Amino acid sequence: MKKTVLITGAAGFLGSHLCDRFIKEGYHVIAMDNLITGDMRNIEHLMKLEHFEFHHHDVTKHIHIVGELDYIMHFASPASPIDYLKIPIQTLKVSSLGTHNVLGLARVKKARVLVASTSEVYGDPTVHPQTEEYWGNVNPVGPRGCYDEAKRFMEAITMAYHNTHQVETRIVRIFNTYGPRMRLNDGRVLPAFIGQALRGEDLTMFGDGSQTRSFCYVSDLVDGIYRLLLSDYVMPVNIGNPSEITIKEFGEEILKLTGAKQKLISLALPKDDPKQRRPDISKAKALLDWEPKVNRAEGLKITYEYFKSLPHDELFKTEHRDLEKLNK
Ligand code: UDP
Repeated sequence: MKKTVLITGAAGFLGSHLCDRFIKEGYHVIAMDNLITGDMRNIEHLMKLEHFEFHHHDVTKHIHIVGELDYIMHFASPASPIDYLKIPIQTLKVSSLGTHNVLGLARVKKARVLVASTSEVYGDPTVHPQTEEYWGNVNPVGPRGCYDEAKRFMEAITMAYHNTHQVETRIVRIFNTYGPRMRLNDGRVLPAFIGQALRGEDLTMFGDGSQTRSFCYVSDLVDGIYRLLLSDYVMPVNIGNPSEITIKEFGEEILKLTGAKQKLISLALPKDDPKQRRPDISKAKALLDWEPKVNRAEGLKITYEYFKSLPHDELFKTEHRDLEKLNK
C-alpha cells in the first residue's frame, strides 16, 4: 500500500517541488491549493498521474479528506515580502486558521504533520548565524509582522497540538531558497534581478546592498525537509545554505551570469529589511545527516535557464494577479 501525503500550497514554488519528490518516492499525493499565489503550471505535468490528485481549496476553511492520511506538509502561504504586503490578512489567516485546520485534520487522521516555518521568525536578527535557540527580533506591527507573527503562531500551535494531543509534528525553518518555478514578479530579489537582466533594465538594489542573505537551491531544501519529516525530531530545524553573500555581490553575480551590461542602482531600503541572515545548520547536519550539495554557481545557472525558457512576453507582464482584490 502506498502512503498518502497531503501537501498544502502544492501549486506554489516549494509545494510543487515537494509534489515531485513525493511522487518520485512512491507516495499517493493529494495536492491542495487555493491558487492565490500558486500556479497550476507548476504541477500540470503531474495531473494525469494515477497517484496524484488536485483539490482546489482554501485551507483557512474546514479541510475534508476522504480516507487515510499518513503525512501532511503545510506549505500554503504567500512567502514574498511583496505578496504579504498586498494580502496581509490572508497571510495571517493561512498560518493561523489554516494551521489550526491542518493540525485538527492530522489529529483525526493520526497523520504526522510538517509545517513550513521560516527564518523570518528570527526577524532582524541580533544573533549571527541564527541557531534554532535564538528567539528572534520581530516587529509585530511592521510591514513583515503579518508574516513573521503568523509563522511564530504556527510554531506555537504546532507545539501545543504535539504536547496536548500527541500529534506527531515537525517544524522546518526555511531560509531563502531559489530555483525554477519561482514567480518572475513576486518581488523577491532573485527573480527581480534575473527579470531585470533579461529585460535590459538596471538591477534594483535596495539600500546600499550591504545586507546579507544565504541562498539555498530548491532540491537541497526539499531533501532536508524530506529527511526531517522521516526523523523523530520535534523541535524546529533550520534548513538553508550557510553560504552568505551581500545583496550587492549577489547583483554582480547575476550581471556576470547573464552577461547583462546594465548596472546596479540603489533604491530605498524597505522598512525592517533584515540586515543579515545565515542559518546555523549544525542541527540538520547532526540529526538528518544533511547539508546542501548545490553551490550557487550551479543553482543560479539552472534557475537562469528556467527563466530564459519562459515565453518571452511573460518577461514584460507585470503581475497578472490582482492580489489586493482578495484582501478581505
Ligand atoms: N532586494 C533588492 N532588490 C530587489 C528585491 C529585493 O535589493 O529588487 C533585497 C531586499 O531588500 C532584501 C534581499 O534583497 O534585503 C532579499 O529580499 P527578498 O525579498 O528576496 O527576501 P527576504 O529575504 O527579504 O524575505
